[in-house]
Amino acid sequence: MKVIKTCAEMSALCQAAERPLGLVPTMGALHEGHLSLTRQARADNAALAASIFVNPTQFGPHEDFGSYPRRLERDLELLAAQGTDVVFAPPPEEIYPAGFDTWIEPGAVAEGMEGAARPGHFRGVATVVAKLFGITRPNRAYFGQKDGQQVAVIRKITTDLNLAVNIITMPTIREPDGLAQSSRNANLTPEQRTAAPVVYRALRAAESLWHTGERDAGRLQAAARAVLQSEPLVESVDYVSVVDADTMAAVDAVSNQPAMVAIAARVGSVRLIDNVVLV
Ligand code: AMP
Repeated sequence: MKVIKTCAEMSALCQAAERPLGLVPTMGALHEGHLSLTRQARADNAALAASIFVNPTQFGPHEDFGSYPRRLERDLELLAAQGTDVVFAPPPEEIYPAGFDTWIEPGAVAEGMEGAARPGHFRGVATVVAKLFGITRPNRAYFGQKDGQQVAVIRKITTDLNLAVNIITMPTIREPDGLAQSSRNANLTPEQRTAAPVVYRALRAAESLWHTGERDAGRLQAAARAVLQSEPLVESVDYVSVVDADTMAAVDAVSNQPAMVAIAARVGSVRLIDNVVLV
């Protein structure tokens, strides 16, 4: 497995790689959620590239860029064990050299939920993903449903900008108690870790109500909020949203189109996001 730090070397290597080439972009501190993507990408493609880059431009000024977990050595061992051919782990100045001044600004798909709670977040995500696509030119790129709005944004920019990459979405990998795996879970205290599955329980409450025939978004949201409020360690709730699963537009009622119920909530100081798709 090659570990590459520069864009030029990564481009050259990927150009010479066997095809199809699969790409799994990550911010590292890998867990089973990431590995489910690399496993699928390994199975689907002749060559497998992964990236590890904690992208500064998708973090707000008061967010956790500094405390985001970084575990490069361990990540490289995990990726090697998965049969990864090449890992791109550039320093920030390689991706954003002095004078860098071009941004991708996604539209309505990026306005609500994470986009509203984290101004500029999806601009950073869209820009770095477009750069990674440009550097590696993969045939397929793999993303997790865990970050449901992120996948919708990436699908949209890929279509709108003709990026010629096949976007593959993989299901959310959870702990046995339902908590979605996330690198940020490492920052939960043991007490907060015990409380954290409340986010998925809240989503399940909305989903169960939907299964009984309820279609009103307000009532589905209320069911989820009630569960979140039952947990004292939930410090704040950024949103409980019911949106169209493709466009991310808020819906008043769930129709025949798949809808997504999404939550962002803070347990202690750790911000957790999760979603379920109603299908
Ligand atoms: P991150 O390192 O958080 O940027 O995540 C890299 C990729 O892994 C993204 O496409 C995420 O959606 C995906 N991912 C993160 N957590 C999970 C999970 N629990 N299940 C499935 N995919 C995940």
